[in-house]
Amino acid sequence: MRPSIIRLGALALALVLAACGQRGSREERTDGGLPVGRGGQGLGGTCAGQQSFLIGSGIHDITGPAAEVGMMGYVELKQQTAGIHQRLRSRAFVIASPCNGKRVVFVSADLGMVFQGVKQQVVQRLKATFGPLYSDENVLLSATHTHSGPGGYSHYALYNLSTFGFELKNFEAIVQGIYQSIVRAHEHLAPGRITLAAGDLLDASRNRSTEAYRLNPPEERARYAYDTDKRMTLLRFTKESGAGVGLINWFAVHPTSMGQYNQYVSGDNKGYASYLFEKDKGTRYDATGDTFVAAFAQGNEGDVTPNIFGGEDGGGRDDFESTELSGRKQYERAASLYASATTPLTGGVDYRHVYVKMDDVTVGPAFTEGEPAHTCPAAIGISMLSGAEDGPGVGGGEGATCAAMHDVWSAFTCATTTTACQAEKPIVLEMGTLKPFPWSPEVLPMQLVTVGNVALVAVPFELTTMAGRRLRETVRARLAPAGVTEVVIAGLSNAYAGYVATREEYARQEYEGASTHFGPWTLAALQQEFDKLARALREGSSVPPGPTPRDLCQQQSRLRPGVLFDDKPLWVAFGDVFADARDSYARGETVRVTFWGGHPKNNLRLQGTFLRVQRRAGLLLWEDVAYDWDWETKYTWRRGYCLPTLACSHVLIEWAIPLDAAPGTYRIVHEGDWKSGWDGRVRPYRGTSRTFTVK
Ligand SMILES: [Zn+2]
Repeated sequence: MRPSIIRLGALALALVLAACGQRGSREERTDGGLPVGRGGQGLGGTCAGQQSFLIGSGIHDITGPAAEVGMMGYVELKQQTAGIHQRLRSRAFVIASPCNGKRVVFVSADLGMVFQGVKQQVVQRLKATFGPLYSDENVLLSATHTHSGPGGYSHYALYNLSTFGFELKNFEAIVQGIYQSIVRAHEHLAPGRITLAAGDLLDASRNRSTEAYRLNPPEERARYAYDTDKRMTLLRFTKESGAGVGLINWFAVHPTSMGQYNQYVSGDNKGYASYLFEKDKGTRYDATGDTFVAAFAQGNEGDVTPNIFGGEDGGGRDDFESTELSGRKQYERAASLYASATTPLTGGVDYRHVYVKMDDVTVGPAFTEGEPAHTCPAAIGISMLSGAEDGPGVGGGEGATCAAMHDVWSAFTCATTTTACQAEKPIVLEMGTLKPFPWSPEVLPMQLVTVGNVALVAVPFELTTMAGRRLRETVRARLAPAGVTEVVIAGLSNAYAGYVATREEYARQEYEGASTHFGPWTLAALQQEFDKLARALREGSSVPPGPTPRDLCQQQSRLRPGVLFDDKPLWVAFGDVFADARDSYARGETVRVTFWGGHPKNNLRLQGTFLRVQRRAGLLLWEDVAYDWDWETKYTWRRGYCLPTLACSHVLIEWAIPLDAAPGTYRIVHEGDWKSGWDGRVRPYRGTSRTFTVK
């Protein structure tokens, strides 16, 4: 499938051009009206010992189409969105240093990946609004790597396979939501301090490719107590007024508690951990003012699964329970670290950024421990098709190398497709040489950020545990003499181009090695580039920007049309109840109500909700007790069978009544939008169930 050869005519073209537009408002905004000095270096120098920062946090909805869009993560074609369990959010922090006038943006977004096109659009819109204040260099966008969000928002074909092309609605929801979260963080900028705590979380992760991990040198493995990184590093943000406005923590684990057959939009274990913390703090998701933002960000999770009992078993009876178990462990550890985070960050803010043509890096002997080596055109190996352990794909098993393949066909494939550069990898697809554009990016961003004594190593990859350790060591060796005490990998940042395994792990060609696009020396190339960035940061020198990545926003098309129209039987209205609630329930039971509805693509209801659970608070007064992002609710979309068009929608709302729910009279409200086949207009509707009692 090649999206570039599929043209849907004027309609698709018009949609596509809109994706290249700038939506940032043109009003002049600069520095949030706060005094920010100039000059000086972030490390040591004028900022040594400084403990004051300007901090701001913001949050915004990025939930894309909740029905009929292929999901991003498992590449399972049958896995299409069909409802919402948790809404997806972008969590943004702006951190500025009064002592050197520099600032950075850190975003953790509930996404499978942050693709290059997303970063390009977000930065364009920020520039349209704020001028040169925000750029590629100081904006760091990181994905949590949930596997339960809608896909189709990459500009590269490899990542739009499960959606049969580009999904403009999803792309726009993501780009605009991230942009809005940053605008909010910017507007909330005020003096404050950042404190740090770090500690281990032991029973929430497991290495899923231990055979590959064991190929790393024994002396190296002996230095670590575990085969995954158990350390959670947490930053606590407190304004001068004393108000806590947020936290960021990094813990390496795949959000694959929800499995490959799940069809609900979900932030998975990290989304749930954020939700729990924010619920604790009374976060208002619709707030434009200050509200608490809890980001559970991703680290070097390449070979790390939350399914601690092996395979797809996270300890729960189903996806939801496994997500709850993993999310709660991360939340509880974060809560204890948050309470004990008293060590202030000291120093300024600084950053270095470079674009590297990753398929054309000559790696010096300092990083190969031998002869100089070279990276390769992007390609994936055969084990990539078989999937990782927590989401088996279409192929046989992991660990497929040419040497291990015995049948004639495999031998033939290996003989004809392995290149000297890719070494042990039996190539199934060389994306890097496809025309007219490669199927995955090769000019990739490397970004190094320091906030006081903490360094963030932002990579557009998923690093395995040991790969992350080596890269951290490279950076630490350069920056420790300048006062950096904590080095964190910010995984899946700013773009995406697969995994990075160590040279030794690569030889085994498990899923992570097969997904290391640029060959056996990819990690060494990364170490070499980050070594340069760290040196420049320490010396206060600049680095050349590198080549500019191509922008493919004009090249997008899609196979799948949007909603043509919504239908219903003649005798009902949109929002009418199809199957109603009972008249009473006990706590712990689940209420189910089905409505005649419209397609959720008509209106994503961003910052809103498709459902409200309401409790009677007076004669004519109802108060909301739950929304579509709450853990105890589910919004499910199904195609309803109404002849002759089959364009009917059934919307099932479920509410698992919490054990601590207040007794009283309740009702379920569904809000949606339907599209007319006559005039093409989209109109809102609202439906209400019968009232029922909870005892
Ligand atoms: Zn992954």
